[in-house]
Amino acid sequence: MKTTYYYAAWSDGGSDCHEGCDHKHRTVASAVACMKKAGAYVVAVELRKRKTANGYVAVGEPRLRELNEDEAVQFEQAMHGIPPQRYIDKVLYRNSFAPVLPK
Ligand SMILES: [Zn+2]
Repeated sequence: MKTTYYYAAWSDGGSDCHEGCDHKHRTVASAVACMKKAGAYVVAVELRKRKTANGYVAVGEPRLRELNEDEAVQFEQAMHGIPPQRYIDKVLYRNSFAPVLPK
């Protein structure tokens, strides 16, 4: 099984160092609330887990990635209240049950 968590990240300005909060936020919006510097962003971390007799244990190293489209919508909503039109077009419409119109 795979779990995803998020953290707020920012550059320290001078050294291109990647800094971030030390939390494992369960939602994008929660990580957005943790952004402490202008230009901060949210990073997704995927962790594979395996079930054992004692519960789940992590398998391999966590994998950092940028937000996917659905997460980017959540990011925009948390930042600005509404997603930008390009996300509405690409993601929300795709996920709706709107009929496909003939060309
Ligand atoms: Zn945080």
